[in-house]
Amino acid sequence: MIISGKELSAKMKAEMAAQVATFPEKYGRVPHLVVILVGEDPASQSYVRGKGKACEVVGIKNTTILKPASITEEELLDIIAGLNADEGVDGILVQLPLPDHINESHIINAIRKDKDVDGFHPLNVAALWMKEPCTVACTPKGIIRMLDEAGVEIKGKRAVVIGRSQIVGLPVSKLLLDRHATVTICHSRTKDLPSVTREAEILVVAIGRPKFVTGDMVSPGTVVIDVGVNRDPETGKLCGDVDFEAVEPKASVITPVPGGVGPMTITCLMENTIECFLAKMQR
Ligand code: NAP
Repeated sequence: MIISGKELSAKMKAEMAAQVATFPEKYGRVPHLVVILVGEDPASQSYVRGKGKACEVVGIKNTTILKPASITEEELLDIIAGLNADEGVDGILVQLPLPDHINESHIINAIRKDKDVDGFHPLNVAALWMKEPCTVACTPKGIIRMLDEAGVEIKGKRAVVIGRSQIVGLPVSKLLLDRHATVTICHSRTKDLPSVTREAEILVVAIGRPKFVTGDMVSPGTVVIDVGVNRDPETGKLCGDVDFEAVEPKASVITPVPGGVGPMTITCLMENTIECFLAKMQR
């Protein structure tokens, strides 16, 4: 079974659009997401375009602020301070990565927790680990939604996550743990990785290496979630961290790249923006 993030995203966005359509009457306006894009990295430009398109579909107001790569950290912090204070702004997202002369932590930490739609602010990260109300990072949230949609029982399962980044590996491990999976987190220094991955009933791969997970690393019946977004060095096409052709016949459920986790990330960003808006309106 291949889980289509595209299809689930379309369904979720249609539901959100119906919900957002009721907001002008209830709250006097729709949610407003501001995305800041620094520089001209083509991948970042494409992600930001995708976010804009999703806002259009859902009916969320979207402002994109474009700044040259030469912008200083202070200038960027000033823009964020203005958006933090603006009552008409519900979500603020700074597209990463930023140029080397800007400290990403300073920027992430400057966004108000209640406008941090990415869920990257340390207060949101801490709240997730403390099981307190928070904005959950979009990619991990999307992964859990896909597992639920596919009818995968998480409770009691052996889950293996490869990758321990702050934006994917760690938060998805925490979400799986909260759903009562037994979670093993692997990384670049894990010894004999295939012996660990073969134990997995649910395998989440977030490394950033094309086709890293081969058929022999997966046991029959495993649920495989491929988070990676890479270019195949041979064909130049988009591919995941999992060798799809080799692993798909063994997996009970698998996500494709493209069209798997990626669309769900943007859809969960829409959900987070609505949640931040509603939290403010219902305060
Ligand atoms: P990251 O910060 O670079 O982290 C990569 C992780 O993989 C690290 O924990 C690293 O271990 C581990 N790793 C690297 N080589 C390994 C190896 N040979 N064996 C085992 N573990 C290894 O990456 P990220 O931000 O989490 O992103 C991972 C991938 O997901 C990338 O392809 C990225 O583009 C993609 N991504 C996709 C979405 C989406 O929406 N679809 C969203 C975010 C990210 P150490 O900690 O030991 O270095």
